[in-house]
Amino acid sequence: MSQQVVKPRVRGFICITSHPDGCAAAVREQIAYVKSRQPIEGGPKSVLVIGASTGYGLSSRISAAFGSGAATLGVFFERNGEGDKPGSPGWYNTAGFHAEAKKAGLKAVSINGDAFSAELKTQVIDAIKSKMPGGKIDLVVYSLASPRRTAPDGVTYKSVLKPTGAPFHAKNLDTDRKVVNDVTLETASADDIAQTVKVMGGEDWELWMNALDGAGVLKEGCQTVAYSYIGPRVTWPIYKDGTIGKAKEDLERAGRKIDSLMKLHRGRAFVSVNKAVVTQASSAIPVVPLYVSLLFKIMKAKGTHEGCIEQIQRLFEKQMYNGNALDFDENGRVRIDDWEMSADVQKAVFDLWPQVTTETFDAHADFAGYQTDFMKNFGFGLAGIDYEAPTEVERTLEDA
Ligand code: NAD
Repeated sequence: MSQQVVKPRVRGFICITSHPDGCAAAVREQIAYVKSRQPIEGGPKSVLVIGASTGYGLSSRISAAFGSGAATLGVFFERNGEGDKPGSPGWYNTAGFHAEAKKAGLKAVSINGDAFSAELKTQVIDAIKSKMPGGKIDLVVYSLASPRRTAPDGVTYKSVLKPTGAPFHAKNLDTDRKVVNDVTLETASADDIAQTVKVMGGEDWELWMNALDGAGVLKEGCQTVAYSYIGPRVTWPIYKDGTIGKAKEDLERAGRKIDSLMKLHRGRAFVSVNKAVVTQASSAIPVVPLYVSLLFKIMKAKGTHEGCIEQIQRLFEKQMYNGNALDFDENGRVRIDDWEMSADVQKAVFDLWPQVTTETFDAHADFAGYQTDFMKNFGFGLAGIDYEAPTEVERTLEDA
């Protein structure tokens, strides 16, 4: 056990420290938002979230627990603090979540390990049988974002963020120096594409759902959702038409296959396309932080800005539960990126894009909003936290 004063140490698109109390405060903010909404009618009661410690997965866990009273089993790959070294934000978020769940009398079980492995899937199935209500689950959220995966063939595949057509010359934001510069991203090889599909495509989601089905732990009517992104034309060469976009196409392929399996349980599987937000995963994608900074300003001015928790709460409230039906697009996907992709928002981005330079950036962008969200992901900048005071960096996760 060790008390430390924890200060932010930002290195490019990552902060290598995180604050335990700040992360817990950020989780409490999300819980407060969910509690400010009406309880979700007919919502999930026993939920598995794969990738539950940060970003969209964490918000899914919070909405399910505090909006619907669900018992939650969270899976993630995080690190506790040790000695004088702080742990990862996802560890501290989960410690904060467990503390609040316990206070609220909500069951919370967490398993830290490699979700891609067969061993962890077995461990999760055992935990569902022994710890979750009735030994079954009624919702599986698949929200992994990872740079690598060791697949059942024993090979470790790596995902890359590259265009698949011609090299991509684009405007980019150097978030450290607040400079708008140009980047050239070289074209992916066929192997780059294949490896990215292995990591971020749908194969592992299928393996999960087949394993859960085989173990008999899916409740009648069980649903499963995985998250995707499409975004604006200015990012298509690196996102939608890039290596990651190919992986997301494979996720949709898997979604259709899993849907057939889930129908046997009178359930369903689908992909939800979510809005661009600032998470550890999205900060690492070239061009995206510049787009997000512009987008935030436009959407805040229109009053339609949302973060992870508002997005997931809307998915649960307006699409999945409360007696509503899923509203699919022409490709069978649910679109909670609808406000981001509305014609007026996208036109505003499109019109601004050629005008953005280092000099005009402040006038066009909400960089303060971007940075606030970025720092919050690591537990910094939260009200009511004394960042000068030493705090315990080793935190335990006890089942609630
Ligand atoms: P994130 O980085 O915040 O969260 C990733 C989660 O995956 C964490 O809980 C992490 O612990 C877990 N994880 C990573 N590797 C793991 C492993 N081997 N075993 C167990 N857990 C592991 O990411 P995010 O931005 O919330 O992304 C989640 C999903 O949402 C992704 O599919 C992403 O494409 C999608 N999405 C993100 C955005 C965005 O703007 N961030 C927009 C739309 C859709």
